[in-house]
Amino acid sequence: MIARQYHDNLPQRIRDYLRQKRGISDPVIDLRLLGWNGSRITIPIFNQSGGFAFFKLAKDPEDKSDSPKMLTSPGGHAELYGWERILANPEQIIICEGEFDRLALESRGLAAVTSTGGAGTFRPEWAEAFSEIPNVYVCFDNDAAGQTGEERVARLIPHSKIVRLPEEVGESGDVTDFFVRLGKNGEEFEGLLKAAQGLPGRRSSAQPSSQDYRVVSAMDEEVDTLKSLVDIEELIARYVPLRRTGQNYCVARCPFHKDRNPSFVVYPQTQSFHCFGCSEHGDVISFLMRMERLTFPEALRVLREING
Ligand SMILES: [Zn+2]
Repeated sequence: MIARQYHDNLPQRIRDYLRQKRGISDPVIDLRLLGWNGSRITIPIFNQSGGFAFFKLAKDPEDKSDSPKMLTSPGGHAELYGWERILANPEQIIICEGEFDRLALESRGLAAVTSTGGAGTFRPEWAEAFSEIPNVYVCFDNDAAGQTGEERVARLIPHSKIVRLPEEVGESGDVTDFFVRLGKNGEEFEGLLKAAQGLPGRRSSAQPSSQDYRVVSAMDEEVDTLKSLVDIEELIARYVPLRRTGQNYCVARCPFHKDRNPSFVVYPQTQSFHCFGCSEHGDVISFLMRMERLTFPEALRVLREING
């Protein structure tokens, strides 16, 4: 299997980087078959039935070019990274925002999963897989996209609780910052889990009814439909000139910060964007919200108008 081959090729300097800068332990590096394809770190993603689906490809830490931090191999799509955890019927699980964050949590014995599609992507059919897990926690990055994303997940999984990272992780700080930069341990993270709360204003019933899922799914279906009908490349090109630089992405100067070099990347395949300068990221909806200063329902209305 190619994933194992890449894993066997993992250079020591990359293993050191994963351990020291990403807080990922050796056993987790080996168990999850992190590898090296000659230019990028390979993270194999498996589907619900355990079959290999595609690779997430993380940038070489020594690569100083403005190439994106994370790419997806051909055939990539939004998948849940960590199905084996859910299928093992755990008492507790954490949904976090990225592959490396997931592996940092796993390295501390905390069961975790993530969407491979970023903060803005979480499929309603995945949400149902969490309905039997008693304690579901959502912990996204400490920024606007992360907060929008985690609220969306919390709506989809009505008994989940939102974990707040302490302010010291800084703006757009994440799980990895908590462990690596702040030097905190797994027990300290469990302290955050104890303080986690449900979405404000949500009915406090412990378990969701099937009707909850239907209502949320119907709304989510509309959101997903609208998102799939709008081409993110076309939408963003209305605001900033885009330049296609590869098969999988195009770049622009970021409309959200003073950007001298184009550090704003649009990924038509996953219908998402990410700025490597200011960390702003998301989908068509978060782009519109930020660009036009709209609320979520207002952005939806604009999308409906675009679609006629
Ligand atoms: Zn930016």
